[in-house]
Amino acid sequence: MKVAFIGLGNMGAPMAANLAAAGHAVAGFDVSGVVPTGVTAAPTAAQAIVGAEVIVTMLPNGEILLNTYGLLLPDIPSGTILLDCSTVAVFDALRAAKMAVDAGCDALDAPVSGGTSGAAAATLTFMVGGDARAVAQVDPLLRGMGQRVVHCGGNGAGQAAKLCNNMLLGISMIGVCEAFVLAHALGLDWHKFYDVASTSSGACWSMTTYCPAPGIGPATPADRDYQPGFAAELMLKDLLLARQAALALGVASPLGEKATQLYDALVAQGGRGKDFSAMLPYLLQIARGV
Ligand code: NAD
Repeated sequence: MKVAFIGLGNMGAPMAANLAAAGHAVAGFDVSGVVPTGVTAAPTAAQAIVGAEVIVTMLPNGEILLNTYGLLLPDIPSGTILLDCSTVAVFDALRAAKMAVDAGCDALDAPVSGGTSGAAAATLTFMVGGDARAVAQVDPLLRGMGQRVVHCGGNGAGQAAKLCNNMLLGISMIGVCEAFVLAHALGLDWHKFYDVASTSSGACWSMTTYCPAPGIGPATPADRDYQPGFAAELMLKDLLLARQAALALGVASPLGEKATQLYDALVAQGGRGKDFSAMLPYLLQIARGV
């Protein structure tokens, strides 16, 4: 397929490179000017989209997404599919979809899970919201960048799934970290605690696959001084989006609120640029009253 790819950062660059490697004709644009191997560099976003059947965006936030759509849509022929893989608010995804549909285009929100390693290995999971026919049309592209595609429902449903999943992840990571802190205070060996909790009712992904305690369980960012992985500030971004949705809908999410406060504090107090599992040394510090 003929694809334009806008936003070639940590995630977008390997995703675009994988599309090119899968045989698609990919024209790419990023404001930083960096374009990965196999992707044809376009000097502007407007030039990248010329002749594209599908326009993929992988941008930092909803505001940039909406600005980009606003700039480009007057020049996009009707029938083009706009496939946004960024993580943005459900309401921004709905706004973006309306703009696209008003211009005679199809819009899909397709945020991803799997991080930079999943982007590089083309093993991402896509959570897709939008029309089933458009989802089927972009399926070869999604399969070129990922391993799993879940069509979650209409526009916004992909972002809804992403926000709910990441709110749960943020909460569960804090729970696991808090348990390690208490285990330590009680004089319990962390290896022994892991042996119990990873195979007992406390087991969850944050414990078994992404253990925040260094030297315990499978290799994780904790074993490389919390280099990400999934950065604490990106977790904070996703928690804030979930919070924004809960507030707008009047839904109580007390643990989501607390998790947002704790990640906000972690990011403000040295956690920026560290993996989100650096919540463990942060909570240890608090426990010691430092
Ligand atoms: P990033 O900051 O590395 O990449 C974003 C890129 O967009 C940058 O290269 C930037 O120069 C470019 N950009 C900004 N404004 C632009 C514009 N107007 N036109 C063209 N390019 C522009 O971020 P990332 O880690 O690649 O994440 C991208 C999206 O994916 C975010 O929404 C993030 O929340 C989401 N996400 C990230 C991860 C992860 O582990 N990094 C995992 C899942 C989802």
